[in-house]
Amino acid sequence: MANVARSRALFERARALMPGGVNSPVRAFRAVGGEPRFIARGEGAFIEDVDGNRYVDYVLSWGPLLLGHAPPPVIAALSRRVLSGTTFGAPTEGETLLAEAIQRFVPSMEMIRLVSSGTEATMAAVRVARAATRRDRLVKFDGCYHGHADGFLIRAGSGAATLGIPDSPGVPAASAALTSVAVWNDLASIEALFAAHPGEIAAVILEPVVGNYGVLPPRPGFLEGVRAACDRHGALLLFDEVMTGFRVARGGAQERYGVRPDLTMLGKVIGGGLPVGAYGGRRDLMSLVAPEGPVYQAGTLSGNPLAVEAGLATLRALDDDPDLFARIERRTARLADGLREAAGRWRADVTVNAIGSMFTVFFARPPVETTADAARADRGRFARWHAALLDRGVYYPPSQFEAAFVSSAHGDREIDATIAAAAEAFRAAFEGA
Ligand code: PMP
Repeated sequence: MANVARSRALFERARALMPGGVNSPVRAFRAVGGEPRFIARGEGAFIEDVDGNRYVDYVLSWGPLLLGHAPPPVIAALSRRVLSGTTFGAPTEGETLLAEAIQRFVPSMEMIRLVSSGTEATMAAVRVARAATRRDRLVKFDGCYHGHADGFLIRAGSGAATLGIPDSPGVPAASAALTSVAVWNDLASIEALFAAHPGEIAAVILEPVVGNYGVLPPRPGFLEGVRAACDRHGALLLFDEVMTGFRVARGGAQERYGVRPDLTMLGKVIGGGLPVGAYGGRRDLMSLVAPEGPVYQAGTLSGNPLAVEAGLATLRALDDDPDLFARIERRTARLADGLREAAGRWRADVTVNAIGSMFTVFFARPPVETTADAARADRGRFARWHAALLDRGVYYPPSQFEAAFVSSAHGDREIDATIAAAAEAFRAAFEGA
């Protein structure tokens, strides 16, 4: 096993001061019974930990780094910007440029508000939906994660699935009671909720490709069916594209599947590795947001100039090179094929779901389309596979129920090395070596 002495020592210090030693739970590696590596630097497809171990990175800060680590255009933009001050709490040109860039990719976002995280974006979008419909009930899907606000922490995917806690203490029962949970890829479950709560449902929120229970694409017709149900019952459709935006297609899942939501939430890629979120959509709905309308939402660092520059540089790279997205997608598909192949004689017990530049390796028989399918995955095998990969210099998300990501910096060489490492890791997973 690699030398991890410095990571271990830092983790001990961190644990004395921060819950679990981390600032976001999945970083603690608990789901795989491992120890987190403290990361010192990243470049391109690689990260290096404080003990000098190098890894091909498929976490990519959980999605934002579409261009890999420290991409030159982002670094140049940040370096220029930082010399002129980092925040003013007043409007800056960059905010409009970023909003315009986002709208070119996601035209359903007729008006946009920038915030600092995905959590903020989803909270605010639901408030707008409730104000617009004058209804309180929210429908979400099992396995979908929409940030950590009270009304979302109900069957909320990876974190909860991994730790085995369906809800969080501290969420008032009154908040939880306003959230109803439908079954992913099951249209009948949505119809049943509309029938059970006539005239009460303000909005249906979903990840149009689930990423937070591992990658679970929608079945053909599913998103269209949810759209039609919302229209029939006067509810708004909210696409949480915090993860799928610029990942499932350049214009997100709504472009790929041709379904137009009323409101969209973005995050991750649009900040290019700095904290940005956004929500937006129909002009009549977004006109309700203060100060244009009565729905209050604000942020000291919203539209932060540095973050906006990083996001703009990332979206410009996509604009400047029309093949960039397709290239990442092709490499992801090749990696997914290679991983299926690498599973060798255990192939029947492994499912690789991949779409755009997202993928998940499930230790479960194909097909894996619902959270029930995914929940059957063998977590022990996954943990052994994960440890074996880490030992071989591949940094895959430390939970069975997460999406992994590919960047434009992942070349054929990195992909081939990953497939070779994975083949050995599958042996370790299945033979317990
Ligand atoms: N929605 C989705 C689909 C996400 O994947 C995430 C984060 N993984 C969020 C919302 C919350 O975003 P943040 O962590 O930036 O608050």
